[in-house]
Amino acid sequence: MDKYGIIGFPLEHTFSPQIHNPAFEKLRIDASYDTILINPEFFDREILKLKASDYKGFNITIPYKQKIIRYIDEVDPLAQKINAVNTIVKKGEKWVGYNTDPYGFIMPIAETVKTLRSVLVIGAGGAAHAVCFSLLQYSNIKLLTIINRSMDKAKALKEKFKQLYNIKVEAGSLHFKSNKHFDLIVNTTNVGMGSLIDKNPFHIAENHHPKSIVYDLIYNPAQTLFLKEAVERDLAVLNGLEMLIGQAMKSFQIWTGEVYPKKILNREIFYRKG
Ligand code: NAP
Repeated sequence: MDKYGIIGFPLEHTFSPQIHNPAFEKLRIDASYDTILINPEFFDREILKLKASDYKGFNITIPYKQKIIRYIDEVDPLAQKINAVNTIVKKGEKWVGYNTDPYGFIMPIAETVKTLRSVLVIGAGGAAHAVCFSLLQYSNIKLLTIINRSMDKAKALKEKFKQLYNIKVEAGSLHFKSNKHFDLIVNTTNVGMGSLIDKNPFHIAENHHPKSIVYDLIYNPAQTLFLKEAVERDLAVLNGLEMLIGQAMKSFQIWTGEVYPKKILNREIFYRKG
């Protein structure tokens, strides 16, 4: 039996085994996917053990998407650009790293993204990096504003993107004040989940128009305070579940060479866990 798993800390809210195991079953692939909780204190030791193990592939989640890179033998160019890996496949004795988050992020907005002109990204961590890189592939987007608690990180992303792409990029803090109305507003921070469940990273009050789309990468809870505020303003909203499924589909394909059987997923099951 081929073994796959997700490496992270904490992992109690992960939905990934519920996405991959039914697909292995459906396609009659003799494989299993489990959770591999690694305490940050023992990260290096545990990763070395996994490198010597018979696991065929992994997903990597918070807080290790960057830290894992030094253990990877070959990093795919997109993952290199984002400087984060969320998928590893074992090829021979080598670990090859990819990042499937950009694919997952775009999947649920694949048509709409072609019509966007302005985007506000909240956060400047690994997920923000993946989100911005995905968006910058679309030349219709003329303005990208990145705001973050630590301004220096937002500024660093701005400088990086300004050098690579010919569009207007702005950076600001979470106290950002502007009269601009963005077509897409994305929360890429973890504010709204876990111990920050009762917090909202940013009030969109002044920065939307009636057709703005408000997208939160968080999928647990299904509706964060950030999305609740958007719903109250009658805006189109999207949580991170479809992105999670999209990135998983791509990882599945990298590991097995098979197309993920998307129809098997009943979205309801994810929220029965509570
Ligand atoms: P990360 O690299 O650790 O970045 C975390 C971001 O959140 C940073 O911008 C950080 O700001 C901000 N932040 C953290 N605590 C904050 C607080 N108390 N107040 C204000 N800002 C705060 O993490 P990541 O990998 O980017 O992941 C971020 C989120 O995206 C997580 O919720 C994760 O679950 C979600 N995600 C979802 C998917 C999906 O498939 N749906 C995929 C990837 C990630 P500073 O820079 O100031 O610390």
